[in-house]
Amino acid sequence: MNPHSPARTFGAAKKQLGQHFLHERGFIEKIVLAVNPQPGDRLVEIGPGQGAITFPLLDRHGELTVIEFDRDLIFPLTEAARAHGTLEVIHRDVLEVDFTRLASDGRKLRLVGNLPYNLSSPILFHALEHAAAIVDMHFMLQKEVVDRMAAEPGSKVYGRLSVMLQAHCRVVPLLTVPPGAFRPPPKVDSAVVRLLPKPASEIGVRDPKRFEEVVRAAFGQRRKTLRNALSGTCTAEQIEAAGLRPDARAEQIEVEGFVKLANLPG
Ligand code: SAM
Repeated sequence: MNPHSPARTFGAAKKQLGQHFLHERGFIEKIVLAVNPQPGDRLVEIGPGQGAITFPLLDRHGELTVIEFDRDLIFPLTEAARAHGTLEVIHRDVLEVDFTRLASDGRKLRLVGNLPYNLSSPILFHALEHAAAIVDMHFMLQKEVVDRMAAEPGSKVYGRLSVMLQAHCRVVPLLTVPPGAFRPPPKVDSAVVRLLPKPASEIGVRDPKRFEEVVRAAFGQRRKTLRNALSGTCTAEQIEAAGLRPDARAEQIEVEGFVKLANLPG
């Protein structure tokens, strides 16, 4: 059996689970090279699907944990993996997996995944909640989402996702992947991004809930001035005390500005 072209073995792709299986070897190799597993690494793949990235990672690293929700994939994946290495399969919704617990043997996680695009933001925020247990993440996402994650102030796509991600991680876009690299092809371009969680001391957010509240309100009405968008969340005095202009708009404010504002006493 050739585990890299196992469509008959694994059955048809399920749209509702965001299944677009990567098949172009060149891109698979680039992802494995980007991850660059080192001896002792605790690799965890989200959504292994038919094993496009799983088997090359196993060949290279020998052991891997995968989290897959689709019950129909569990058996063929487990069977096909035998020829490649030791695969631990967690059959569960990734949003219910406690990454901190998964890293409780003292080895922090290196997460990898060609993510189901309908769940990409919830998965990113779920991972951020466990950032202290994660060394890095290499994710394939819609290119438009990666552009938003990496955007800088002043860019049209700079928004809540950019600020929340960049406050907690270094965001490094790596490569763009066209629809034809997948079966079935998605309608949009995709991109691989590397996320490197920052140490808590560098993040500086005192109260994550307050930070989230301020960022959400600021971008809730992105055409409004900070004074208006944040009315009910921060006073004009607080905005000024954070070194920001109340007549500025959220899209002009650096990540550090939001951190300062959210850290001010209420
Ligand atoms: N890694 C494979 C590849 O690159 O060909 C498959 C990627 S496919 C875009 C996304 C995968 O995530 C599918 O295998 C899908 O079944 C799985 N998935 C979807 N929702 C999930 C969830 N909530 N938890 C875990 N896996 C999920």
